[in-house]
Amino acid sequence: MTSPDLNPLPPQYDAATTEAEWYPRWTEHGVFIADAERAATREPFVIVMPPPNVTAVLHVGHGLNNTVQDVLVRWRRMAGDEALWLPGTDHAGIATQNVVEKQLTAEGHTRFDLGREAFVARVASFVEQTGGEILNQLKAIGSSADWSRTAYTFSPELSAAVREAFVRLHEDGLVYKGHRVIHWCPRCGTSLSDEEAEFNDTTGKLYHLRYLVADDPRLSVVVATTRPETMLGDVAVAVNPDDPRYTALVGREVVLPLNGMRIPVVADSYTDPSFGSGAVKITPAHDANDFDVAKRHDLPMPVIIDAEGVVREVELAGGRVPPELAGLDRFDARDKIVAMLTASGALVKIEPHAHSVRHCYRCDTVVEPRLSDQWFVRMKPLAEKALDALRTGELRILPDRWEAVYVNWLDGIRDWNISRQIWWGHRIPVWYCEACGNTPLVSRTDITACPTCGGAVRQDSDVLDTWFSSWLWPMSTIGWPNEQSADLKAFYPGDVLVTAPEILFFWVSRMVMSGCWFMGKAPFHTVYLHGTVRDMQHRKMSKSLGNGIDPLDVVRLYGADALRWTMVAGLGLGVDVMLDPNDLDKSFAPGRNFCTKLWNIGRFLLSRVGTEPVPALSTIPSSQLTAADAWILARLDAAIAECDAALGPARPANLRTWTDAERGRGLRLSEYAEAARRFVWNELADWYLESIKPRLYAADGADKDVARAVLAHAFDGALRLLQPIIPFITEALWQHLPQTPSGQFVSQASWPRVRDAATVSEAERALASSFDATREAVQAMNRVRSEYNVSPGARITATVIPVALPMALLESQASTMGSIARADVTVSGEAPTALSASVVGTLVTVHVPLAGMIDMDKERARLSAEIDQLQAPLDALLGRLSNEKFMAKAPPAVVDGERAKAAEWQARLAQLRAKLDQLGA
Ligand SMILES: [Zn+2]
Ligand SMILES: [Zn+2]
Repeated sequence: MTSPDLNPLPPQYDAATTEAEWYPRWTEHGVFIADAERAATREPFVIVMPPPNVTAVLHVGHGLNNTVQDVLVRWRRMAGDEALWLPGTDHAGIATQNVVEKQLTAEGHTRFDLGREAFVARVASFVEQTGGEILNQLKAIGSSADWSRTAYTFSPELSAAVREAFVRLHEDGLVYKGHRVIHWCPRCGTSLSDEEAEFNDTTGKLYHLRYLVADDPRLSVVVATTRPETMLGDVAVAVNPDDPRYTALVGREVVLPLNGMRIPVVADSYTDPSFGSGAVKITPAHDANDFDVAKRHDLPMPVIIDAEGVVREVELAGGRVPPELAGLDRFDARDKIVAMLTASGALVKIEPHAHSVRHCYRCDTVVEPRLSDQWFVRMKPLAEKALDALRTGELRILPDRWEAVYVNWLDGIRDWNISRQIWWGHRIPVWYCEACGNTPLVSRTDITACPTCGGAVRQDSDVLDTWFSSWLWPMSTIGWPNEQSADLKAFYPGDVLVTAPEILFFWVSRMVMSGCWFMGKAPFHTVYLHGTVRDMQHRKMSKSLGNGIDPLDVVRLYGADALRWTMVAGLGLGVDVMLDPNDLDKSFAPGRNFCTKLWNIGRFLLSRVGTEPVPALSTIPSSQLTAADAWILARLDAAIAECDAALGPARPANLRTWTDAERGRGLRLSEYAEAARRFVWNELADWYLESIKPRLYAADGADKDVARAVLAHAFDGALRLLQPIIPFITEALWQHLPQTPSGQFVSQASWPRVRDAATVSEAERALASSFDATREAVQAMNRVRSEYNVSPGARITATVIPVALPMALLESQASTMGSIARADVTVSGEAPTALSASVVGTLVTVHVPLAGMIDMDKERARLSAEIDQLQAPLDALLGRLSNEKFMAKAPPAVVDGERAKAAEWQARLAQLRAKLDQLGA
């Protein structure tokens, strides 16, 4: 029984009111909250939300990402799983620090003016005031996350997990401090990991420089470089030991043009004889490969560019930087050095050079390779486990083409630089004793005095890479490292990780590594990589391009469901979603139109079903079902089965033994949406509802009640199937169904199930398929109508002859066919003798007598006129084609085109003549 306090359904769907009404009710009733205890008796289903940056503002990419997650979680919640969607935010070290530093700059300050403690306090309060707004925005699009478990990577609990991970990896021998060339962002003032220093293709220049041999200026070597400013830090020229051109020079010295330093020529097989001149300059402090060469040859490693990207003597560089260059920014220094080398004749030539240059992923500054001390994680042992997870079938990636990318990256993995020289983040849990040198002290708890000498200790000033906390997310958010945590026991490992391919390396692979290392199991069995939202020029949406779409605008204009439907229905697996930021009306038309249609269907249907109780379907004997009833129940079963097949299986227990095809199964969201849409629109509304109108409008009676019951049941099934995608509108409609229990939500109703085959009788099946004959007959009659331009309102007469059905079964359908097709239908074994238009189908043949339906004389005249109109141009065309001159001159493509046209006109003419013959001309 519907609750008496329900508001009547307005004629038009009012998304804003509906969303404001239902979301708070769901949260008040704890619909989204998962329970660890309940998970003992039900299958848990866990998705951790990729935590947005705490200062982030919702963009359309988040909208897509979170809608996909919500659809999966809502589906599994209905299917009876203990579904947990765990939300939260990331403190986003560099990104957040940058935001606050910009504020300080505007105020005329730097973070150094404030000092570390005050700066961190300022960032924290900024985050407290403005952070996490994105989570409220996610609520506005209907996200059914368990907000009671909202996590934050910088909370005390998650910070403890970070420290535990660091210390444990140190104990395992996987965390170490290294002195090597790393990627450095001079603007952010910190080192970056390989992944954070992104490659951009650019056209730069290749400078060829001549270094003269020290004791014989008649001899020289030419080296090529894209960064001539680094020559000040050169310590050698390397040649391949097998390169005969340089054999005589190995062991001798050359002179650096600008500072006169003498550097040796060394032989190293790293040098490729076919690149440039075959000789390369070695700058160990500013190039990772050169660093390795220098180590092999025991060469010095002078640093000539400082942390801010300024050229000056930093370390071991005495006398290397001429005074006129000291203090210049690296790019200004480059220009000046090129000018000086040109003047001195040392610059041989400059060539354009296409190459990839690393940029900071946070501020896009060109990254400077720089020698420094950093903390690293030894990745090989971790990567091995992550590779095993894929190999042994514990993990799959959809679409599966990404599996090769994942393997490739893990195979070639290098140690992970995890220390950052910023202030906003987890401080590295390492202390140094200046007094006795008992260092470093790695500790789970803060150390205030040296355990050996009691002297004062100083904590490492660096913080950890933001991703060092994110990679623990699936464990740290549910209690790790506390092995006794009820949540950890109930909800680890989780199920699906939904994200965009961009962070496969940053985040996804590392979560697999940490999960396998610390928990012995991958944190999820399926990685679902969805496409990217792009504009009509196929460009990724971004703030800088100004081609973004604000999902909240879409919610305001068309409602959250229209946004969600558009995204899900357009989401092929691994395919990008194209939306036009300049035409939201058109972009979101699929969702808006579908919601409007569903609302119209729902309002009409509910008004006919009424509020009186309907009999339960199980109490209706199948003998009382009409063909249409049996058919729509069969179609509902088929729709459920299609949705299940597109979405599931939820948890591939047999991943290990699955074939490749099976591994690629499930999570086909657009197919699921289409199956549900087709059922409610093309089957329930277009056919079933049309066919039962006379019964619904009839006076009360058993047949009306059966129709009401089947209709209410079918619509209930449709709303359940659609709920995960469009939760608001389905909730609003579902509440008005007479069989809906009071105080329940479709959001937590059970997922529909295909009826047990044994409960559907043979007779009912035959009845259902007889309705297919009805549909075929109606379609045939409609075709004749349109062919002869008969107005939709005009009544026609038809004879329907069964092809493969018992006559009696079809006879019972005559009135239904007649009422849908607005026709007087006779079911017969014989074709009428009167002149008829005929359509031969697979189940029935339909004859529509033309007399009475059309004016025969008029139709004959119309056909004759059309034939005449076509004949003249056709004759002309055929004339041209038999004209030898034309044929000799015309290009073959033109001749082919004319021939095709002639064939088409001839066919049409034959058709018209046949029709005219039929009319007895
Ligand atoms: Zn940067
Ligand atoms: Zn000490």
